[in-house]
Amino acid sequence: MQASTVMHRLFQLGLLLGTLGRGVAEEAPAPRYSPTERLKRERLAAAHASVVELAGRRISLPPAKAGLTDFRCNFHAHAEDSTHTGGTRPEMLAGAMKVGVNGIFLSDHFRPPRDFMDSWRFLTNGILFVPGSEARGFLISPMTSVFEQMDLPATELAKIVTAGDGLAFLSHIEERSDHSMEGLTGLEIYNRHYDAKRDLPGLLQLAMRLTDQREVVELQDLVRLYPAEMLAAQVRYADTYLDKWDAETKIRRLTGVGANDCHHNQVMIVKVVDEDNVLVGTIVDKDEQMRAVSSNLRPSIRRLTKGRKPGDIAVRLDFDPYHQALLCVCTHVFAPELTETALRTAVKAGRVYVSHDWMADPTGFSFDEEFGKFMGDEFGFQLCRGLRARIPVPGMIRLICSGQEVVRTLGTDLRFLPNKVGVYRVEAWLEVGGEWRPWIYSNPIYLR
Ligand SMILES: [Zn+2]
Ligand SMILES: [Zn+2]
Repeated sequence: MQASTVMHRLFQLGLLLGTLGRGVAEEAPAPRYSPTERLKRERLAAAHASVVELAGRRISLPPAKAGLTDFRCNFHAHAEDSTHTGGTRPEMLAGAMKVGVNGIFLSDHFRPPRDFMDSWRFLTNGILFVPGSEARGFLISPMTSVFEQMDLPATELAKIVTAGDGLAFLSHIEERSDHSMEGLTGLEIYNRHYDAKRDLPGLLQLAMRLTDQREVVELQDLVRLYPAEMLAAQVRYADTYLDKWDAETKIRRLTGVGANDCHHNQVMIVKVVDEDNVLVGTIVDKDEQMRAVSSNLRPSIRRLTKGRKPGDIAVRLDFDPYHQALLCVCTHVFAPELTETALRTAVKAGRVYVSHDWMADPTGFSFDEEFGKFMGDEFGFQLCRGLRARIPVPGMIRLICSGQEVVRTLGTDLRFLPNKVGVYRVEAWLEVGGEWRPWIYSNPIYLR
């Protein structure tokens, strides 16, 4: 409660300074804790308490737009598609059913001679699967096989993929922030794997904790109590991705999607070599890819190896079962029905928002205009009668115009009458575990 009051005071001060600062735009809130700090028991418990509290403060909102349903989907999802993937499609289906996912756009790693379009393409148990691939720096979901065209220059391939209702997104922006967006449907505006890449020291520290029996017992307990909070400890605001999106949407419409990048491969193991040596890694690592740790460095290893034989798995900790991974980041699509055509059309139209659903169910969120225009719409600035955003639990809403914050507010709704042409999008942040954390990213309304 105290932390919350301080946070609100800081917010008010920030707003005041922003006003006095002669148009200097407010930045996104900085994280207060590092991923490693967030993995401490008291921080996980605090984050979990916030999640429970926010669920209790939920308000009921009317449907965002008559005739459209908010479908919880996942883009960039892997199963049985590579040696570094630990999960299977049936396992993904079970995970999706458990947490109420409606649609999954698969992104198989391209492995000729296999054609990724031969994967699951059906509705089962209320979940629609759409085949696709992560290839050539893109996430692609063509309408029909593009197997014979996969070696074409990138812009030609994009053109072929996006024919009809085909979709192509630029992926892993940190590796290609200068890449042309010509011919693409959009881009990833968040990628869970990027967070992991930014936290290698934290991952190494976590791996070392697994070589101490007491730490193992502690981690097993934390994974049991706070699985979502643990998996999300690395999640950060993806400036690199959002900067590119804001810059590129000044010229063309681009749908932003959230990259889940789940593989069910964050299952950490400790494998016994002999009584003084272990290997630490994940279930998808070969022995030579694992980190060798000896009792010289960590005397407590002998407690882990005691009574076990070479090759035994002494410790196994599953951080990313599909049901947790799928909720870590979702892409919500507003469509009239749950069919491939309806979802593809809605995604192309930008009727989409990205959300970290583990924090709070965002259903009810909307970003629209007083006269009924909606996320993804593009129209003359003079016709806009006011933009509105609403969220189902109280938080901070930021309205961003062409990359610059124009206003922020605390509560469950924001209204703003734009005074200039621009690409407007909103972000919602929630106070979780004593810090503001990004929750929702809308797609833009384009005022030209
Ligand atoms: Zn992969
Ligand atoms: Zn991937």
